[in-house]
Amino acid sequence: MSERERTFVMVKPDGVKRGLIGEIVSRFEQRGLKLVAGKFIEIPRDLAEEHYGEHREKDFFEGLVEFITSGPVFAMVWEGQDATRQVRSMVGETDPAESPAGTIRGDLGLDLGRNVVHASDHEDPGSNEREIDLFFDEEELIDYERPDEAWLYE
Ligand code: UDP
Repeated sequence: MSERERTFVMVKPDGVKRGLIGEIVSRFEQRGLKLVAGKFIEIPRDLAEEHYGEHREKDFFEGLVEFITSGPVFAMVWEGQDATRQVRSMVGETDPAESPAGTIRGDLGLDLGRNVVHASDHEDPGSNEREIDLFFDEEELIDYERPDEAWLYE
């Protein structure tokens, strides 16, 4: 059995403005993942630049930072077995056009630069913990039981 872990997810400004927060939260809830933190914020520019720091040299960096700071985002932490990988499989590919139907980006997006949601990268070990630390203080992460956990895990 894989480890239970926490992962960072964010509904981007396009998802917020299109009224998709509920749809996206609902998918993770129904999958059996547990919400342990959530907040509705406008990302300051320095935080946006740090969050997307790996892309600093790319030509899309400036547009990406402009976009992610252009309106509110809904930042979340979800917990569950193999959560980073499971969430990424639900989110789809970076480009919605390459994302299969059934994924969030494949069902709800069309364009690479407006792909609705961010999720920690399972191919970058530790990115989940780094992103959680960047957006949340320890006391904002809430420990509790989901009564259906007995039916979600063997
Ligand atoms: N992005 C973009 N143009 C590109 C590549 C990426 O606008 O050519 C944006 C896109 O919104 C993506 C984000 O930059 O979600 C971060 O890129 P990354 O490769 O980390 O993809 P992700 O982890 O979000 O799938």
